[in-house]
Amino acid sequence: EKLGLNELRRMFQEFYEGKDHYARKSFSLIPEKDKSLLLINSGMAPLKPYFAGLETPPSKRMTTCQKCIRTGDIENVGYTARHATFFEMLGSFSFGDYFKVESITWGWEFITEVLDMPVDRLWASVYEEDHEAVEIWKNIIGLPEERIVPLGKDDNFWEIGTGPCGPCSEIYFDRGEKYGCGKPDCKPGCECDRYVEFWNHVFTQFNRDDAGNYTPLAHPNIDTGMGLERLACIMQEVDSIFNVDTIQYILKSVVELSGVEYKDGTANTDISIRIITDHIRSVTFMIADGILPSNEGRGYVLRRLLRRAARHGKLLGIQGSFLADLSKKVIEVSGSAYPELEERRDYIHKILTVEEDKFSTTIDQGTAIIHDYMKELNAASQTILSGEKVFKLYDTYGFPLELTQEILEENSCTADVEGFNEHMLHQKEQARSARKSDEDEGWSDDATMFAGLEDTTFIGYDTLSGQVSIK
Ligand code: ATP
Ligand code: MG
Ligand code: MG
Ligand code: MG
Repeated sequence: EKLGLNELRRMFQEFYEGKDHYARKSFSLIPEKDKSLLLINSGMAPLKPYFAGLETPPSKRMTTCQKCIRTGDIENVGYTARHATFFEMLGSFSFGDYFKVESITWGWEFITEVLDMPVDRLWASVYEEDHEAVEIWKNIIGLPEERIVPLGKDDNFWEIGTGPCGPCSEIYFDRGEKYGCGKPDCKPGCECDRYVEFWNHVFTQFNRDDAGNYTPLAHPNIDTGMGLERLACIMQEVDSIFNVDTIQYILKSVVELSGVEYKDGTANTDISIRIITDHIRSVTFMIADGILPSNEGRGYVLRRLLRRAARHGKLLGIQGSFLADLSKKVIEVSGSAYPELEERRDYIHKILTVEEDKFSTTIDQGTAIIHDYMKELNAASQTILSGEKVFKLYDTYGFPLELTQEILEENSCTADVEGFNEHMLHQKEQARSARKSDEDEGWSDDATMFAGLEDTTFIGYDTLSGQVSIK
């Protein structure tokens, strides 16, 4: 009998509670008092005030299972075995309390004694200058030296600008040769799916100043993060996170709705099925946390994920709106751990219905128009769609820029993004002057569409070539 995802979450929290950690429920996906971040993307993100010493934590040891969104991973979703835009991060934290030895020792205890992971399949990466971490892995844990992989600053040193920072050590699971790329130097850190990184232990021990100096912190911190879906993938011995019990439950529903066979491979239909499965999780959780579809910031991320899912539904031949009903599956499997989903069930349903209906009245028209545009480009031996046309698709048919880009990419074309942005700016200016002349104070939203969207712009190029062809 394999351990379910919900069961693993509970085991983790109980384990750390047994080590005197205060267990707190997940923070919202919307960052509080943190303008640097659009959406919470790690367990430590909402705990920054404690790490920075600006606020006193309820306990020097904490554990959470944090809802996370990483739109930066959107192009991996459906293609790798391990990436989702929404995932849960199990975390253990020490605010100036225990440090490396306990962090690694307890982590090891949890995976090898509580979960009984086969020891000979586990590897650890360390920051190449962190001799202390190497010693712990070698002498306290007894991990053979050849399974301790030193990596450089890019991989194993955590820092964002100035402030607290430090080396990290990551734990990998070897899923076996059949998942490997076969290269002789394939080891943790390789891009293939053989060695799955699943637990990052960050040792925040320095402060970096403006001049680039690293000063040791008097009270170093621990911040660990383990993807719950990845842990479940390993424990349930399945090929990808999409075959983990709770996620597979949603995926099966997508398969049923579409009537397309899921082959669990690299066919375009398989990828569309996984994309919808992933995006419905993200949008359901986002709406439950109070985010509404809009044309900027978080609301734009939501709209983009939602419309992208709707379009992949079309590609699979799903007739009519389906996302609102699909969200019920997400609530079914995650509702016990996240009561806010249950509480806002009707609200989530309503928002999804309104937004999807709004889009479905124009999606067919918009898609037909893109294809006409591409035909024209093709006839003129051109590949770049003008900013004016990309803007028209956005403005008239509700196609987020990235969606248009995705469709163009599938047909070896690209969008004139600069031209699009100019049209966008022009529209904003017109709206602003209209507003001035009207003296309508209700229109107080001046933010531009991409405000705070640094990690979500111009990505999401999927290659689904063959799905859509130019008639
Ligand atoms: P990867 O290299 O696989 O993209 P990462 O190094 O970006 O992962 P971290 O920032 O170290 O990830 O986050 C800590 C943990 O969170 C990871 O070890 C992994 O278990 C999990 N995780 C990170 N990104 C994702 C994702 N997109 N989907 C699911 N789990 C994730
Ligand atoms: Mg990553
Ligand atoms: Mg990594
Ligand atoms: Mg990592």
